[in-house]
Amino acid sequence: MEYVNILGVRVNKLTMAQAVEKAETLLNTEDLSIIYTPNSEIILYASENSEFTDVINSADMVVPDGIGVVYGSKILGNPLKERVAGFDLVCNLFEVMAKEGKSVYLLGAKPGVAEKAAENLQKKYSGLVIAGTHDGYFKDDEEVIADINNAAPDFLMVCLGFPKQEMWIYNNKDRLNTKLAIGAGGCLDVFAGTVQRAPQFYCDHGIEWLYRLIKQPSRFVRMLALPKFGFKVILKGRRYK
Ligand code: UDP
Repeated sequence: MEYVNILGVRVNKLTMAQAVEKAETLLNTEDLSIIYTPNSEIILYASENSEFTDVINSADMVVPDGIGVVYGSKILGNPLKERVAGFDLVCNLFEVMAKEGKSVYLLGAKPGVAEKAAENLQKKYSGLVIAGTHDGYFKDDEEVIADINNAAPDFLMVCLGFPKQEMWIYNNKDRLNTKLAIGAGGCLDVFAGTVQRAPQFYCDHGIEWLYRLIKQPSRFVRMLALPKFGFKVILKGRRYK
């Protein structure tokens, strides 16, 4: 698959429709496949941590979760096709899975959130099977892996925040009994309704980050990663010219 190298991270050049189609194919392949959904904050972190970069690059598909990554690709002169937000990718995949009666296991977020997300998902995607849920504040990997493997879901959503979720999937990939795993950040909070997704206006204008900042001012320090990411990409871009 074609990709753009952004500060060492290989991000696939796909439209949303192509990413959904690829995810469907991976879902129907016996061996475990992995999808990561980096935004600029994650790529910035990877650019300072080569082990983490290797983990991301080992995935079967890597999609640009944030608009910053798409802008970054343009600055580097190798534009990505469009933003493929992890949340939207998962929603589109659920539509397909619901029709086929496929199952998902929801791992992550605070106690009670994954259960609430499961309840809402079952209402929204009739036919989708919820194979199991577990919160993301566990100490014993073995117990969680045993629960997932007993449920044997087609799809495993791992929402532990970065870099934990990517490392967790990577470190356990050989013992997870599922066909497709995704690192999906705060998706369960949104499905559960504990966090609101930005209104369409913000997404359409590339300012979803502004909405999140207004709603959760405590993210300010984390968000300083955005200009830092932009600065690093511009420096890199200038070196290519
Ligand atoms: N989380 C978790 N276990 C942890 C740390 C975080 O389950 O040890 C959850 C947290 O409750 C939240 C999600 O991971 O639901 C992280 O959301 P965020 O929007 O910060 O995602 P990121 O941008 O880090 O991928």
